[in-house]
This record gives sequence, structure tokens and C-alpha cells, in this order.
Amino acid sequence: MAFLDELAASVAGVSTAPGDVAAVATDRSGTTPRGLPSAVVRASTVDDVRRTLRLAHEHRVPVVPRGAGTGLAGGAVAGSGTVVLDLGGLDRITGIDPVDEIAVVEPGVLTADLDRAAAEHGLRYAPDPASAAISTIGGNIATNAGGMRCVKYGVTGEAVLGLDVVLADGRLISTGRRTVKGVAGLDLTALFVGSEGTLGVVVGATVRLRPLPAQTFTAVAAYESVLDAAAACSALARTRREPSVLELLDSATVNVIDRAQGTDYAARGKALVIAQADGAAAEAEIAAIADVLGKEATWTSTASDAATSEQLLFARRMALPSIERFSRALIEDICVPRSRLAEAFQGVERIARTRGVDIYSFAHAGDGNLHPIIAYDRSAQRLPDAVREAGDDIFALALDLGGTVTGEHGVGLFKRDWLAREVGADVLDVHATLKSALDPRGILNPGKGF
Ligand SMILES: Cc1cc2nc3c(=O)[nH]c(=O)nc-3n(C[C@H](O)[C@H](O)[C@H](O)COP(=O)(O)OP(=O)(O)OC[C@H]3O[C@@H](n4cnc5c(N)ncnc54)[C@H](O)[C@@H]3O)c2cc1C
Repeated sequence: MAFLDELAASVAGVSTAPGDVAAVATDRSGTTPRGLPSAVVRASTVDDVRRTLRLAHEHRVPVVPRGAGTGLAGGAVAGSGTVVLDLGGLDRITGIDPVDEIAVVEPGVLTADLDRAAAEHGLRYAPDPASAAISTIGGNIATNAGGMRCVKYGVTGEAVLGLDVVLADGRLISTGRRTVKGVAGLDLTALFVGSEGTLGVVVGATVRLRPLPAQTFTAVAAYESVLDAAAACSALARTRREPSVLELLDSATVNVIDRAQGTDYAARGKALVIAQADGAAAEAEIAAIADVLGKEATWTSTASDAATSEQLLFARRMALPSIERFSRALIEDICVPRSRLAEAFQGVERIARTRGVDIYSFAHAGDGNLHPIIAYDRSAQRLPDAVREAGDDIFALALDLGGTVTGEHGVGLFKRDWLAREVGADVLDVHATLKSALDPRGILNPGKGF
């Protein structure tokens, strides 16, 4: 029997309708795939996933795992000859244990839903990508997603204790543990985290929850220049204080937010730093943080209640939507040692001037994770050369500063050449060895990641 007939006969939720496959062919990277996938499998059980992979392995058909398709690196882009394996229907939170402070979830659970469910027990799921309301835990695990709170609580991988993974040939394995500690065997959980659907399909996860902080305080400071703002973040790093959020927005970003949202942040300074502290000692912590940030600032403000805090974070949350209101955006995602953040901002400004493009930069400053957003005309049919070249310059800058070409969005389709430059031939060779051990027929998300 031909592959698609066999698939439809043995798995529920298979569609080959052009509208259905077109709807899952790309992600939020804006990539147009070559051709359309042959089918989409909307899995609602682990067995659906196992059967799909067993058949795809047998027939050597490429499979593209998909969460919610919010990825920015093209990881879930699926072209002709592929089958999209949509995990969005596996969306149950199967347990929350308030004593062990863990949740057991299926991959299609939306990240914000898990956080909300944890809150009912006085807990939180700490990793908070800005896409938390629209992206899945499975996608977050596959990209090792980050977010604002990661400066204190760590990225997704640091919250994942164990995984259920369907291998390329349909075998189901469980990695890791339900305990806080555990060192038995190789750390296969870490291997699957961030592997962008290339080594296995995540069908379940045990994740760590954290106590919901009793209180959260916010401080904002404005500066004469982005270099003053970066210097303030460095000064803060030297104090051993522990902000739970530390964000930095450059002048171009502050201006575009004002233009789109009708705010007047630019009147207070040319760059903004937004910090939060949480937990029992948050009040003393934010006072100390505000003191350091305030030294060279042109304006400061603090908030203790949720509504005012949200108002102060508003600028940061509105950064990308404001840019996208006026232009299309190539969203970059480099990470440098945080001691070199000022050089990264300076370098990006230099690249914008040299290439003649508009770049808006904001950063998870506490992690050195910088998002330079290169704007271009909405009507452009393809990525303008100057934009692509500026993107390449930014990757080169990240490597020159001892950083990486992706802090949280992943390698996906776009950064494979740059990954090779970052890690070198021997590491790529190890990647290839692992890939062929786990997916000898190369059916899992080929052409992505590494
Ligand atoms: C407005 C906006 C804001 C964003 N903010 C952030 C941010 O702050 N931080 C951040 O890190 N990212 C951010 N992103 C990027 C994106 O949301 C994340 O990469 C997210 O983790 C992707 O989740 P998803 O469910 O949409 O996965 P998808 O886009 O569907 O897939 C992403 C990758 O994971 C693989 N995959 C998905 N599910 C599975 C699974 N169950 N098993 C194996 N592989 C799987 C796919 O094959 C693909 O390679 C943002 C995106 C948008 C649009």
C-alpha cells in the first residue's frame, strides 16, 4: 500500500486537503516553503505519533513536528514531500504535584495555560517566552525557549526534568526523572531539549514548577544613550543583586513604541532599562536595584502593584508589535557575554549605518541576549540584500564578541551556515553521529537545526 493510504488507514486525523496542509506549511519566520506538504497528521494520542513515525521510517518519508507554528527560525517550515506532525491536539496537563513542585504535561499545552494551572497551587512555570499565550510547551522544549524571567529562573531546559520521546522508528522512550536530583545514565533529556524536532518527537514532559512569588516590584530608568543604559546594567551585575527581569531598549525602539502607542518615553531619555525583583525580599531588592540604575539615569520610576508594574513593562511588551506596525521585520537573536552588551549595541548601530538599514534593538540585558530587529518595506517580495547582509554582519559580530548566533529562537532553516562557523567541523561531526544513531534514515525534520 502507498504511504499516504497506509497512513490514513492506520492513524486518525490525517488530512491531505490543500487548505489543511497549507495552514501548517510555515511558521512565524515568514518563510514560504517550496511546495506544500503531502499531508498533515493532527495527533491526539501518543499512539498516533508512534504509528506515523513507524510508517514514515519504513517508507523514508520526512516528518516535520509542529507545535503552534510560532517559531522564528523556520524550524516548522514544511515543503513538498513532507508530512507535518501537528502535536497541538495532545494538550492535556496530566498532573500537577504541589509537594514535588512538578507538572506532567503533553506537548501541545500552551505555555501560559500551564503557568495559569500552576498558579492555582501557588506555583508558576517560570520560563516565559513572549509568545507564552500562543506557543506550546513541546515547541518551547524543542527550541529551548527563553523569556524575560529567565535571567533569574533559567531557560526552558532548566525547567525540564524528564521527557517522553517517540524516536524516528516509532519507539517510545522516557528520559530523565521526576525527582529534583538524579544522575543515572547520560543526560538524554538535555540532548532532546533544543534539538528542534530533529532527534525525536516530544510527547510528554515532566517540568519543574517554582513557588509563585509573594510580591513583585518593578523599576524603570531612562538614559541619555544606550551605552549609559548598558553601563548601568553592567554596574548592576557587579552588585550581585538578582533581578527577575532586566530588559534594555535602545533609542530607535523607544521612538517607535512612542509612535505606535502614543506614549512619551523618548521625552524621558534615549534608552530604557526595565527591572523587576520578586520574592519575599523584593522590596529591598528593587530599592537596591533602582539605586544602582538611577545613578546615571535621566528619569526613574518604580511600582509595587501589579497594574503599575504592567504599565512600566508595557513599553517592552509593545516593542515588537510597534515595529511590525510600520514595517516587516527580520528578527535576530544573538547572545553575547553580558559584559560585552555595550559593544554589541554599538556594533549593531554601526552595521545599521554601514548597510543603510533601520535596526531596532532590545535585549534581555541580564542574559546578554540581544534582539536586533531589521525593518524593511512591507511591499518587498523578498528579503532585501542589505537586510540579509546586515543579518550576516550581526551574526559575525556575535561570534567576534565571544557570543552565539542564537540565544533562544534556534538554528532552524536560516542559521545552519552560521552554526557551522560557531561550533566548527568536529562538533558538527558529533552532531551528525548522534543524528544517525537516533534517526538513521534522516526522516526527522531534515534540513533544520544542524
Ligand atoms: C510574537 C512572538 C514572540 C516570541 N517571543 C519569544 C521569546 O520571548 N522567546 C523565545 O524563545 N521565543 C520566542 N518566540 C519564538 C517561538 O514562539 C518559540 O520558538 C516557541 O518555542 C515555538 O513554539 P511552537 O509551539 O510555536 O513551536 P513551532 O514553531 O511549531 O516549532 C518550533 C520547532 O520545534 C519543533 N517542535 C515543535 N513541537 C515539537 C515536539 N512536540 N517535539 C519535537 N519537536 C517539536 C518544530 O519541528 C520546530 O523545529 C516568539 C515568537 C513570536 C511570534
